[in-house]
Amino acid sequence: MSAPTPPVRERLLALTGDELPAYLYDLDALRAHAAAVRAALPRGVELYYAAKANPEPALLAALSPAVDGYEVASGGELAHVAAAVPGRPLAFGGPGKTPAELTAALEGVAAGAPLPRFHVESVHELRVLAALAARLPAGVRVPVLTRFNLVPGPGALAGGSLTMGGGPGPFGIDPAEADAVLRALGDGTFPRLEWYGTHAHLASGLEAPALAAVADGVVRWSAALAARHRVPLREVNVGGGMAVDYARPAARFDWTGYGAALAALLAARPGLTLRVEPGRALTAYCGWYGTEVLDVKHSHGEEFAVVRGGTHHLRTPATKGHDQPCAVVSVDGWPHPWPRPFARGPRTTLVGQLCTPKDVLARGARTPGLRAGDRVAFALAGAYAWNISHHEFLMHPRPGFHFLDSAVR
Ligand SMILES: *Cc1c(COP(=O)(O)O)cnc(C)c1O
Repeated sequence: MSAPTPPVRERLLALTGDELPAYLYDLDALRAHAAAVRAALPRGVELYYAAKANPEPALLAALSPAVDGYEVASGGELAHVAAAVPGRPLAFGGPGKTPAELTAALEGVAAGAPLPRFHVESVHELRVLAALAARLPAGVRVPVLTRFNLVPGPGALAGGSLTMGGGPGPFGIDPAEADAVLRALGDGTFPRLEWYGTHAHLASGLEAPALAAVADGVVRWSAALAARHRVPLREVNVGGGMAVDYARPAARFDWTGYGAALAALLAARPGLTLRVEPGRALTAYCGWYGTEVLDVKHSHGEEFAVVRGGTHHLRTPATKGHDQPCAVVSVDGWPHPWPRPFARGPRTTLVGQLCTPKDVLARGARTPGLRAGDRVAFALAGAYAWNISHHEFLMHPRPGFHFLDSAVR
């Protein structure tokens, strides 16, 4: 289930205690998973990777054969991704883009790189982008997808773990402003901006049927908008947010079902390109946070295992309020002269080294016979893990990083 792949397990056992904790990424597993996702999506659907889920350059490069491009959400990500996978198509999203960030994104023209798709979040941002675009060489037009905060229907986002749309919020343009925006884009107010279509990323954590229904609503709404303004709808980016179920680590988002639903949407609209931009559901499964049990203790009827590291490296369980799935990798030798602490019962709560009761990685995990010196591999640690964590808190050492790749071993 959450057991590490053979290369991850092997490396976890080969590292010394002092070389732990460590992030262990199985790049072969990532390549295989991304290729399967790509294969499940029909022609006419482009797959972008949302870099904020995990921007490690080795992951960005391993994904490259399977993806059509990358979604970046800051000037930092833009520069980082452009350097890690040079020349690949980009989409530049995110609220509060600064003039300097927009300028950096537009400067790609000079270098001959294609301009990113700009996911414009507000009317103000359209004005700033248009003013900056006026400095581009003559004839260059800036591809724009306007992000709208759509209401996909009552309860449509209810199953999500995070909602970014469908109600009051800072993301995207209110649909009540859509006609005015389209009029302005068509009447020469923003002469260098070229409208390609719409973008909507409304929720994260939805399963395929719910996400397909949202995509259907977004495409219908966008097509009606374009028709009212007599402009072609060339592209609709229906966002990311494909569910990752931390309670069922072997489950996978139904990419085949989702792909079939998108194919049906496209069949009715020749010439339209759909784009999806998952983050979590692409990289979560390829990463493990591997560590060593330092101590096992009994406290008021429960058992606790303290591991090297903690939620300052793997904040995901603390921030999402779940138990991180994990597997014990037993180590038989005990090199120390002092006795080896061990668990008497079948379950322990796995905690880190931080002096806060919030530093819990997994409550009541099944760990029969767990002993100090055993290794634990926390699964689904490839996305929103290290890069969202508060590394500096308590000044413990940083984890190691291992990118396991059969092509370079
Ligand atoms: C975060 C984000 C994504 C990726 O979301 P996941 O839940 O990781 O798939 C895609 N698009 C936008 C605009 C985002 O903000």
